[in-house]
Amino acid sequence: MGRRSRRDKPEELRQNLVELLSNFENKLKHDDLRQQVRGLIPVFNTLRDLGSSILPDGESGRDRILLYLRKYPYVHLNGQELMVVSGIDDWARRVRELRVEHGWKILTGVTAKEIVRDAEEVDSLPNGAGLPKMKPDDYILLDERQDREAAHRWKSANRIRKLSLNVQDKILLFLKENIGNEISGEELRYVAKNKSEWARRVRELRTEEGWPVLTKTTGMPELPIGIYVLVSDRQSPKEDRAVKDALRREVFVRDGYECRDCKWTPHQWNRSDPRNLEAHHEKPHAEGGATKKENLITLCNICHDDRHRKRGLLAIPSG
Ligand SMILES: [Zn+2]
Ligand SMILES: [Zn+2]
Repeated sequence: MGRRSRRDKPEELRQNLVELLSNFENKLKHDDLRQQVRGLIPVFNTLRDLGSSILPDGESGRDRILLYLRKYPYVHLNGQELMVVSGIDDWARRVRELRVEHGWKILTGVTAKEIVRDAEEVDSLPNGAGLPKMKPDDYILLDERQDREAAHRWKSANRIRKLSLNVQDKILLFLKENIGNEISGEELRYVAKNKSEWARRVRELRTEEGWPVLTKTTGMPELPIGIYVLVSDRQSPKEDRAVKDALRREVFVRDGYECRDCKWTPHQWNRSDPRNLEAHHEKPHAEGGATKKENLITLCNICHDDRHRKRGLLAIPSG
């Protein structure tokens, strides 16, 4: 466990540090190895105290990490900066608590890499879908608001991650318990017991199983990067599944992100009418309709079900 930092003024600490370092000159010349190593311990500690004294308002290392992140939201921060301001050994663990238990949307480089690696569409976008190039040890605060429901979700995440289900079923269960809520990739990764396949499984839920798990690039342009929302407890019609994200987005873009039948757009999304856009085969797949842009149109799920219902009625053999 980390030692508690002293609450001194930065300038006093700086002077202490200078003094300790100049005394060390003698140790370096005359002392044996053990004494030299021991002589450096107060230097390390004082340097650490100096780092944490720069943010005097933070009571604990975790407070100071949060203060620092909130001072620089949306900015690419290196983990070592958080180490410096926290002044504690287990700073990485505190970051994890902030993001998983306390509901701060802090994207880590490791998770960002998994999102990028999996998002087949990212490369095709001019700015990489806004996903920053991050090193594993980088952090970004994606949202200045704390998600107060996260503490509640934390319990469900903890329960679900221990179940003996495969990663995809765990993620689906967690999403279904949190319909309409903004879930971070970090949380899904946690539910998946940190298995890196989590991002691929989420994509498969959307593209192969037809669950409306939406992201910034897959139907909810207003979401921050790295956030997922299951907008309703409903799978798209079977024959319209297996449409890749990139193709579906091309169809949405062509249609101006608008339902062809009722003109609903994702800007109108709200909890009492949780719709989403889907791609529909005009000529049914079963009748040889291709999964190509030319044969796909944008519909909201309500109009989509409507079309399939009508198609179903028409398909009933007449006598
Ligand atoms: Zn519609
Ligand atoms: Zn359809």
